[in-house]
Amino acid sequence: MNLKEIKNCPLCNCQVSSFHSNAFSNLYSEKIAQMVNVSEIELLENVFNVECSECGLIFKNKWFEPKDLNQLFTKEVPFHPKGWDAALGRFSANNFFKELEIFQLAITNNDISKINQYRRALLSIIDSIVDANNAEEKQMLSSYIESKNIEGLRNSEDLIRKYIIEPAPFKRFAGFSSKAMWDYFEEKCGGVKNYAELGCPLWGMLKHAKAKGKPVSFLKRFEPNYWGSNCINLGSHCTSFANNSWDVPLVDFDTSEKGHLIGFFQYLDHLEHPGEFLSEVFNKFEAAAIILDGVEQPVAIQHYTGWTDSSINFIADKFNKTVHTNFEEIKSSGNYLYLFV
Ligand SMILES: [Zn+2]
Repeated sequence: MNLKEIKNCPLCNCQVSSFHSNAFSNLYSEKIAQMVNVSEIELLENVFNVECSECGLIFKNKWFEPKDLNQLFTKEVPFHPKGWDAALGRFSANNFFKELEIFQLAITNNDISKINQYRRALLSIIDSIVDANNAEEKQMLSSYIESKNIEGLRNSEDLIRKYIIEPAPFKRFAGFSSKAMWDYFEEKCGGVKNYAELGCPLWGMLKHAKAKGKPVSFLKRFEPNYWGSNCINLGSHCTSFANNSWDVPLVDFDTSEKGHLIGFFQYLDHLEHPGEFLSEVFNKFEAAAIILDGVEQPVAIQHYTGWTDSSINFIADKFNKTVHTNFEEIKSSGNYLYLFV
């Protein structure tokens, strides 16, 4: 396995850290294990999460070479399903039954990789059902998927059609577009003058900000540990889709002009040098809206870092910013918003 050992904290450079957690198995651990030619179990035992004793950042004890990461995100998992799901509206009962058919076919063919893929896809649709005193029913549908009970699911068609209408906010199929979150930005920033986004162009606030009449742009930045040149669906690259569908200008991050508010969602935790990136961000922008996974669960294998409250406060101190953390609506989805102003 071609891995580099990480001795210094990627945020504060401190050399003292302690074991934090092992990542759970997921699509990325499956793909990475195949790429580096080890078993998935061996990978997850070797590459684990440690916590910096100085700034509290959680990071991986070992990390992959940029060329391997680039292969992961251009060949193995070339397009960003959650981004396209948010842009194309995959949350519908008809789509559920379409994916159920493929799941059934994979079970018949005993195609383990496809079985896992469609099991996760179906579970994520159930997970995005709005909570409304229906926990038991959601649990029942999930258990049918887990136990490959296709007949149980087909017999639950009325229930599925009743609940799969509008996706729950901030879960997979709604992405990170939210009127409430935009209003929060406006309030805490004292009015948003202009808005830029970086990372995935499909799942954030660009469309909403544009509709509000704000100058917007999507900032292109090469990142080996993120979807890039091959994020193509239905013949359209994700950036072209945003450009054509929502009239969002595409601008290179490196040469972009100074702006007011920038948003990047589920992005910072992919970067190998988050501190350097944040320096560039705060050189160019007065305010930054950053969404990250909570750290109640172990940091996933494909995420280099996990952000604790103390590492967030470290950023605020370092760049002399106030950080707002009380946007509550997002929290039930397992995400946190950190708005630096
Ligand atoms: Zn540190």
